[in-house]
Amino acid sequence: MGEILKFFETGKAAGGKKRAGELAAKIAKAVGLEAYPKSLAARGGGAAFVARAGIEKSLLVAAGGGKEPSWVWEFTGRKASAKIGREGISITVCPLGHENAAALRRNFPFTAPRCFGTRASAGLGDRLGIATPGHIRAAAKSGLALYLAQQSIREMTRTGREARQVMDDATWGVFQEGWREGFGSDADHLKATADIDTCAAAGFTMYTIDPGEHVDNAADGLDAGTLKARFEGLDWAALETTAAETRREYLSKSIKLGGRVKIAADEGALLKAAVKYGAAAAHTAAMYRHLAGRMGDRPFELEVSVDETATPTSTFEHYFVARELRRLGVKWVSLAPRFVGEFEKGIDYKGNLKAFEKSFEEHVAVMRELGPYKMSIHSGSDKFSIYPIIARHAEGFVHLKTAGTSYLEALRVLADIAPDLFREILEFAFERYETDKRSYHVSADLAKVPRAKDLGDKDLSKVLDKDDGRQLLHVTFGSVLTTRVEGRYLFRERLLEALRSDEEAYYRALIKHIGRHVRPFAAK
Ligand code: ZN
Repeated sequence: MGEILKFFETGKAAGGKKRAGELAAKIAKAVGLEAYPKSLAARGGGAAFVARAGIEKSLLVAAGGGKEPSWVWEFTGRKASAKIGREGISITVCPLGHENAAALRRNFPFTAPRCFGTRASAGLGDRLGIATPGHIRAAAKSGLALYLAQQSIREMTRTGREARQVMDDATWGVFQEGWREGFGSDADHLKATADIDTCAAAGFTMYTIDPGEHVDNAADGLDAGTLKARFEGLDWAALETTAAETRREYLSKSIKLGGRVKIAADEGALLKAAVKYGAAAAHTAAMYRHLAGRMGDRPFELEVSVDETATPTSTFEHYFVARELRRLGVKWVSLAPRFVGEFEKGIDYKGNLKAFEKSFEEHVAVMRELGPYKMSIHSGSDKFSIYPIIARHAEGFVHLKTAGTSYLEALRVLADIAPDLFREILEFAFERYETDKRSYHVSADLAKVPRAKDLGDKDLSKVLDKDDGRQLLHVTFGSVLTTRVEGRYLFRERLLEALRSDEEAYYRALIKHIGRHVRPFAAK
């Protein structure tokens, strides 16, 4: 048996991985393509790998000529045959579409998402669908579990991508990079049961329930009488308890958290917590039950996020939410409170670090008492000043969520390789900012951002070194990616084409920037 057929059978080449990569290169060359050697994966009698011609990528599925194993038939594409040395090979050149991604997940299980439970992790969202290999390279050595498919419903709408596209892009990136350690997939900020259905159909394994619309932020400012009336008037049936029972549960004994942190459970604090978060807890439980029914036997994991609310979650409020969720039978692996200070998009933490540290320690004490589950850090991009604090106190129970910052790094690369396109996007962002910023937590002063005409090519990327410029470009991603003029995309295709023409440049930028995010959390 020849070298290639032997590799198809055994998954091993005599010269090791390097030689296997050379075999992939030969097979690709036979159909005029260039192989990604790292992607090569053998499976009973055949092998698959990614190859490219220019910026056009394909999946190559190869087997011994005349005796293709049946799994090969699950892939659709152009059939070719080649003779390499004396070996006859059949090759299917497959487009990177949905059906082939699904076939890949079935036949090469490391390209399908999985659950990680409470293992320390990072969520690396990819709005463009091309960042995954860079994300893997940036975080591979951190020891963190990587959630490589992660997008909220809001961002799917804004980027014009469907849930299954987000999943497929992660699958292709994982396969191209030869990442065999497994990856998670986070259907982020789900607000309605229809969102759950969409993401369950796309194969997601982690679901982030955001009951933010059911959080009553006004509770913080109510007088005692109104608070009491609102408390009595809560939908106790949905909470499956009563006002009297809730008082008894929380007020009869003092609450100690691991001996270190004590929390006051006086009547005022309880009523405020219940009015603020009661309906949110009930909504989360309803969403969880819907999800569990939808998933059936398929494994899944849950996050609860209340990060996008107006007022911080106090220690007692966190305790209340977690305890109510537990009482209602919800099982979750991570929870995102709204922390003190400002978590604006795409820039560092704003606020008092001492106050953050004290409050974070208390949240961890609650998590320890009622979990453990991971403390999820949303809007986690670029919060460099608090990473060491979080890493120090979270005791490994942490999930760091980023997304927009990888889009900004794509623009940084663009400023370098396609300066004129970057100039157009920058000017367009100025027009869009006031409208696009509405659902985001930002504070940019546009007067401080230089205009494209005042910048030399070399200085363009400096727009991304200052907070105002970062936020201007951060919140306008949706308009940049989906605006059409006379039926044609204004930027989307040109942007992706430019980045694909030099994908290594984007990967390098991500290694550097995302590397800074994950390093403080790396297992020592
Ligand atoms: Zn969030």
